[in-house]
Parts: sequence; structure tokens; C-alpha cells
Amino acid sequence: MLPIVSIVLVAAYPVIALAAANADEISLQYVPRSLLVSVALAILMLILVRLIAGDWGKAALIGSIALLLFFSYGHLYQVVKSKEVMGFVVGRHRYLLLLWILIFTTWVWLVFGVLRNIPEWNGVLTIVAAVAIAFPLFSLISREIEFRAADAKSESRAPIFEPAPDFVGRDIYYIVLDGYGRQDVLSRIYDLDNTDFIDFLKREGFYVAEQSQSNYIQTALSIASSMNLDYVNDLADLLGEDSTNRRPLNARIHHNYAMDFLERSGYQLMAFNTNLVATSIEDVDIYLPSEGNQYFRSSLPETWLLNPFEGLLLETTAVSALFDLVAQFKSSYIETVADPLYEVHRSRVSYTLDAMSQVPGMPGNVFVFAHVLAPHPPFVFGPNGEPVNPDAPYGLFDGSDFMAEGGTVEGYIAGYRDEVIYLNTLLEDTLGEIIAKSDPPPIIILQSDHGPGAYLDWGSPSRSDLEERTSILNAYYLPDGGSDGLYPSISPVNSFRVVFNHYFEGNFPLLEDRTYFSSAVRPFSFTPVD
Ligand SMILES: [Zn+2]
Repeated sequence: MLPIVSIVLVAAYPVIALAAANADEISLQYVPRSLLVSVALAILMLILVRLIAGDWGKAALIGSIALLLFFSYGHLYQVVKSKEVMGFVVGRHRYLLLLWILIFTTWVWLVFGVLRNIPEWNGVLTIVAAVAIAFPLFSLISREIEFRAADAKSESRAPIFEPAPDFVGRDIYYIVLDGYGRQDVLSRIYDLDNTDFIDFLKREGFYVAEQSQSNYIQTALSIASSMNLDYVNDLADLLGEDSTNRRPLNARIHHNYAMDFLERSGYQLMAFNTNLVATSIEDVDIYLPSEGNQYFRSSLPETWLLNPFEGLLLETTAVSALFDLVAQFKSSYIETVADPLYEVHRSRVSYTLDAMSQVPGMPGNVFVFAHVLAPHPPFVFGPNGEPVNPDAPYGLFDGSDFMAEGGTVEGYIAGYRDEVIYLNTLLEDTLGEIIAKSDPPPIIILQSDHGPGAYLDWGSPSRSDLEERTSILNAYYLPDGGSDGLYPSISPVNSFRVVFNHYFEGNFPLLEDRTYFSSAVRPFSFTPVD
């Protein structure tokens, strides 16, 4: 009995520990499958080793070390990667794998030849594993309780109303261009004259709010607020200013007032897998995959694919050596695909815009939510759409985090400018096509969640260029008089208020347009920006 208990604990520990380390972001629903697979494989291994070793106790000791080595490999590799000792790169897979084999064979030799009291060693192993697992398990459970409590209290406070019976059904597009700055800031800091694109929007019939500022300076806060037609500062009271728990915030995006209302009004909801937990709204009628690139597209149903937590877990295991091997092989094979992650990022941006232009042909009224990860870092497009693979580890690092990963202000500015130029051409195609093909004319909100971050210091509002970070592109295509409710300084918290008031006979008073700074680490510690 003891051997099975110990191996189950050892197999569960890495999964529970990783889930606890990411409990602020990742929902528990992603975890059980990894836990099940890990435990099942461990028991299978125990049975196989038992056949060879002829003893359950020895099999458990050998199986446990194999599991520990397997699950710790990716962690250790991340630490020693490319480390040099006297000009000699020691952090390579070949050396690390060799070391792992050495540790494993030494342990096998100890179990068979040296250790005397095998049941006693199994007892020790079980106690150590049980104690180790208790800590992350406790933190995971308390996080879940906190989340449930906050979720129960955070019902939307906006009034429920039914749409007018004679409303004209139109498709509605809510397009969030992550980090797209306002024209005057692009000109001042980025030496980028964006007049052509703004003129294109106006020519097509958009109203461009030329003094618009975001309500928050980071994605999830901004989108949770705009889609619920309200500020989200009450989360600071619910969770505490110092909370790092983002799940109640993400939940406000996954179930938001605007989409709830439109669904009740007979709209089909459409959203994309953005590869970010916060903005991937899965509970919709049409949920599109993250990218259309043929290399990565799969014919498997979405539930068969790895979820975000499983991807993270595999990265921490010895499977990461296999991933790196495949990536290496691929890059020598296809020169342009130097880094698959940047390629995926590129195809995600173009796929999202491309997929939207298909919506006018769809039957019924459609609401589209598209969170486009551009022109946010990493900057992956040249001005003509040529692929750019930044010489840095892949990640969505912005502001001072971008600099901490080896970026420079000059690099940020140049990369950002190139990406905006190309993004504009994609947008002109998509928007032009949507407007030309839609009948009746659609409603389009094209806005940014915050500005760019070449001079953003996450740790300090006073050391940041707040005008850069808070000034946003905010444009509206509201046919048949909908623009009458707009004004130059309108902020995203009021966008759906104006739309619902005009097209659905809503009765929402406009809120005061305000902006709050908060850091990435302490999202609910708000400082008003004036
Ligand atoms: Zn953002």
C-alpha cells in the first residue's frame, strides 16, 4: 500500500505546486486532467518497474526519483540555460541529460546494493512528499475560496433592461487594439505621422475621439471596465489593495454585461482564443481558434488540445528538451521560422482581422469581440508585413518589463512604429471590407485598452510618461445618428453606454471619464491620474 501512496503523492506534487504558483491567473478547471494523467502514468510506471525489480518498495523508490528528475528538468534547464563556466557553456541539454542519467543510475545502485531497510525508506519518502504537497495544496484551496467569495459578491451593478421591440439588428464589432496610442502621442514620441490612417477612418464615417484617455493602464482592467459599462475599482474593496488575485477580474471579462445583454437580445456571440486567460471568452456561440497558420492549425476539437496550464506544465518537464530539439530542427529546415512562438503571434494577429471580414456574410445579428495583440510588444512585423523575430525570449513584456528583458527605449520606439504602419494596412482592408459588405451598416468600436509603454515604469507613476500610457486611439462607426452621443474626451467606460442608449433605447447616464494607474503586480492598488 505504502509504495502506491508515495508514488501518487510524488506524481501529484509537481502539478499541484505549479497550479498553486499560477493560482492568480489560471482557473482550477485546467488542472484535473494533468493531475489524472500524471498519477495514472506514475502507477503504470510503478507496475512496470515492479516487474523488473521484483519488489514494490524498491519499485516505488526508483519510480519516485524518475518522476522527480522528469518534473524538475525544465525548471533547472531554465536556470542554467546558456550559463558559462570559464568560457564553456554548461547549460546545454546534452550535459544536463547526462547529469540526470548519472543521478538516476546512482540511485538505482543505492536501492539495489546499499540501502538496507527499504520499507523504512518508503515511509520517509511518503512523509516528505505529504508535507511538501500540503503547502501548495493549502494555498491553492484558499485562493479558490477567495475567488468564489469575490465572484459571488461581484454581480454587475448596471440595470437590466430589454431592447426596444423595433430595434434595427446590426452586427456589432468591438475591436481592441492592444496598446494603440493616440495620434498626437504617436507624433510626439514615436515620430510617426498617423494622419493617413486617421483620415481613412474619418472618410469611412468613423468618429475619432481626439482627446480620449483609457480608464486604466493595463489590459484586463480596461476591458473588464469597458464591457461592464463601469469602473472596476470596487475589486480593491473586495480583494484588498495588495491582492494579486486576477481571477475575479478575468471572470468579469468572461461574463460581462455587454455580451450578456446582447445575447438576451438575440445576438450570436463570437470571440477568439487570444492565448491569454483574461481575454479568451470561451462561453460564446462561435469560439475561433487562436490562429489560422497551417503549421499550427489542428483538426482536433479544442478540448483535446493542451490547455494553457498543461502547456506550462510540459515546459517544466524533460519534455522541454524534446520541444527544443524539434524547434532546432525546424529552424534549420525552414529558415524563416526561426522562432515558432513569434510566428504564432504574427498569424494570430492576421487571422483575427481576416476572420472578422467574413462576419458580414453570416446570418442573424453577430457581436464580435476581438482583442488584437498589436501593436503591443513583442514587435513582430516590419512596415510592409515582413516577419521580424526579436532577439529576446518570447513574452508580452511591456514598459519597464520590456527593458528588463534586454529591450531598449530606441528598440521599443522603432519596433512599435513599424508594427503600427503595417497594422494600419491590415485594418484598412478589414474595416473597408466589413463596412462595404454589411447591410444594414454595422456598429464598430475600434479602441485601445491603453497607450504604448516606451516610457512606462510599472513601479512608479511619477517616473512614467503617463500621457504616453493613457492616451488612446478611440474611434466609433455609429451609423444613423449614433455619433451624436460622442465627444472628444470620451473614454472606453462610456462606449457601450452610448451604443446601448442610441440603438437599444437604453437609459445609461454617462460616467465621468477618469483614469487610474496601477502596477502589473498590484493591479488593484489604484492611483488616480489627472
Ligand atoms: Zn493591453
